[in-house]
Amino acid sequence: MHNFHFIVGSQDLYGGEVLRQVDEHSKIMADGFTQTLPYAVHWTPVVRNSAEIEAAIAAANHDPHCAGIITWMHTFSPSKMWIRGLTRLQKPLLHLNTQFNKAIPWDSIDMDFMNLNQSAHGDREHGYITARLRLPRTVLAGHWQCESLQQRVAQWQRAAVGVAESRKLRVLRISDNMRDVAVTEGDKVQAHIQFGWQVDYYGVGDIVTLVEAVTPDEIAAQMAEYRANYEFATEDIAAIEYQAKMQVALQKFMQDEDFGAFHTNFQDLQQLRQLPGLAAQDLMRQGFGFAGEGDWKTAALCRMMKRMAADLPGGTGFMEDYTYDLERGLNMGAHMLEVCPTFAATKPQIHVAPLGIGDREPPARLTFKAQAGEAILATIVDMGDRFRMIVNDVQCVQQPHDMPKLPVAAVLWKPLPSLETSAEAWILAGGAHHSVLSYGLDAETMRHFAEMLNLEFVHIGAHTSIPALRQELRYNDVIWKG
Ligand code: MN
Repeated sequence: MHNFHFIVGSQDLYGGEVLRQVDEHSKIMADGFTQTLPYAVHWTPVVRNSAEIEAAIAAANHDPHCAGIITWMHTFSPSKMWIRGLTRLQKPLLHLNTQFNKAIPWDSIDMDFMNLNQSAHGDREHGYITARLRLPRTVLAGHWQCESLQQRVAQWQRAAVGVAESRKLRVLRISDNMRDVAVTEGDKVQAHIQFGWQVDYYGVGDIVTLVEAVTPDEIAAQMAEYRANYEFATEDIAAIEYQAKMQVALQKFMQDEDFGAFHTNFQDLQQLRQLPGLAAQDLMRQGFGFAGEGDWKTAALCRMMKRMAADLPGGTGFMEDYTYDLERGLNMGAHMLEVCPTFAATKPQIHVAPLGIGDREPPARLTFKAQAGEAILATIVDMGDRFRMIVNDVQCVQQPHDMPKLPVAAVLWKPLPSLETSAEAWILAGGAHHSVLSYGLDAETMRHFAEMLNLEFVHIGAHTSIPALRQELRYNDVIWKG
């Protein structure tokens, strides 16, 4: 379980009684944050000098559960004391400009109170040194108990958890990218350096061997799980059993080898009798990242976003732009099979139907109608000299008509600011046809995540105009020149 270290700065100038009160207040605040935020905030004793600051930051660096640090200057804490520690910081930094008391106690305020409660003063000194050091950081201001501030801290925590997961992620590639496709390619060494992703290739033959080793008992246990979660809408039990067999093999392999995400490639199935459909969908339900056609970047992003959204309602999973309803200004996303069941508004049904592309047996897959609600789409593309993340705010809507002949799940959304402007912006930015859809996460959380990873971030939303976006992309080409 992830946590965050709360590092409160001061100095010896004020005497023991003030420092005792600083500790008393920061303990109350850490406990309060732990109760209301998605992740625990660990109290640490007040830091008074360069050695204590360096030790507190080293402790955060070395704590494998610590996903970031939150600094706050209850009093004034001269910032030269912070240089040694901050230059060694390896985790995301939130500088919280807050205050223990909410209002000024007009009748009792005296110089002792001013000395103790001077974060308006001390946090500016702290801000100078983090700016001077050009540290990647987030600054949030407001009263620590204020709900809107806590929501913003929660967004930052989720982004930091995404970074922590990113730095330990291993992605299972089953086969290579789909032939001739450009956007699913990318620099895996750079992704390893920048994001921490270890992206490892396995031949389909390796997977076939694992699938063939699955026992009848293991298949039966997996079938029982399917029956508990899904409705069987087919007589073709053998087709479902084959998906169960593939799922057991993949799940065991990924758990044993510590993989958090995987991709398939329908062009390269060798002796696999079906493309993993239901199997991929049920693995996504359990939190594994997934993408089709060799798209290791989207598979990895899918895993990150699932972990970032772990405390939030609504689904998160792999998505692909498919077809428009230009009459209603809607985009319909789906995939050939693998739409994540966490999007479902209705109980998913298992169907077996032939697949137009991919020359294997008709695969079993889950179909359902998707939830309505606010969501985001996110993608990462390789621009040659850097990676770029693109996020679009969307409004998912209820499916206006049944689609009796479509044997896959679909999600319909109205992209902001409009279908036309969103599509123009996404395409101008080079956004992929593959993305991750999340009902729980928002663009602000993704912006924090991108900033923590030094990743270019392009946000398409209600504010977007094409001339301004073109300008932004032009500037970014200069800023991000490799
Ligand atoms: Mn695809």
